Amino acid sequence: MASGTTITDVTTTFLSIPLERPLVTAAFPIPAIDTALVQVRTADGHEGVAWSFAFGRGRVASLVRLIDDLGELAVGADAVATEALWARLSKAVEFAGRRGLAAAAISTIDTACWDITGQAAGLPVHRLLGGFRDRVETYASQGLWLDRGRDDLAAEAQSLVGQGFRAVKMRAGLPDPAEDVARVRAVREAIGPDVALMVDANQAWDLKQTLRMARDLAEFDLFWLEEPMPHGHVDDYAAAAPAIEMPLCTGESNYYADELLALARRRAADYVMPDLMRMGGVTEWMKAARMCEVFGLRVTPHLFMEHSAHLAGAAPNAVWQEYQPWWQPILETPVQVVDGCIALGDEPGFGLRLSASAVAEYRL
Ligand SMILES: [Mg+2]
Repeated sequence: MASGTTITDVTTTFLSIPLERPLVTAAFPIPAIDTALVQVRTADGHEGVAWSFAFGRGRVASLVRLIDDLGELAVGADAVATEALWARLSKAVEFAGRRGLAAAAISTIDTACWDITGQAAGLPVHRLLGGFRDRVETYASQGLWLDRGRDDLAAEAQSLVGQGFRAVKMRAGLPDPAEDVARVRAVREAIGPDVALMVDANQAWDLKQTLRMARDLAEFDLFWLEEPMPHGHVDDYAAAAPAIEMPLCTGESNYYADELLALARRRAADYVMPDLMRMGGVTEWMKAARMCEVFGLRVTPHLFMEHSAHLAGAAPNAVWQEYQPWWQPILETPVQVVDGCIALGDEPGFGLRLSASAVAEYRL
């Protein structure tokens, strides 16, 4: 008979969470956040919550199916034995391919199990994993998309600063590089010299364009230039990092710690941006962060602030949690930003409470 933290069921719910305004990046437009919500329950009544997403309903339907499949394998396992469960799930997807949606499926279950582990220990996850800090600086990433005109951009940037953010991220990667530069100038002038500014090109450029743009953007004191080139072009990142003046950030599109190791060994980035759902959940995210620490590299979590801010709280080399409120509508306990920081709080696990009515409303 199941007892203690034995997993008794894994439920996956397909949600489509609408956006007020579609997002426009150099990679693709995004009308809604189609999400696979995962709830893992144990015999002693704990419930761990995590989610992942993909762009396109067919792809999320595949993700839901994969999580259901791996969820069947997880039933009967001990939720707090996260390494054992991770090894079991990773082995199960080996033949189909460990990266892509399989990584996201493993990640959701693993992350939900860390939620349970924290609850069972009576500790918030950021303290369970090391407790380096209980407030994490956050940068506004919810605006400044490519479809805004310069005046719109300037007004939006000022509004974000007015909400208390001390750092903002804008997108670049338009067909006309002069327009990219003019837009960065408009935002820098709008926010003044004291607010940190990140620019994300979403893999739009090649090496030569990156070097040229870094030169043209040098006067705007960027905190980092993010993912300027295709994420797999490690040689190009290794060439660009020492050649440009501003810090270089990449890693959000890479899978598992081994792909980040390839960047770290080549010193191909100044900031490494592990994504919780591409890393394989908390278990592998923390390994990636520790590995980067050994290389003297800082990590900055990609998305998933509700979970990842705890990991940034635990890892000494973590900086700047990305603030992206896409999943705030499904929570009764929205993330609070105080003085530009996310306060992590003391509730056991990740301290998340789902809004049952919102989940019902957005369910497909
Ligand atoms: Mg990015």
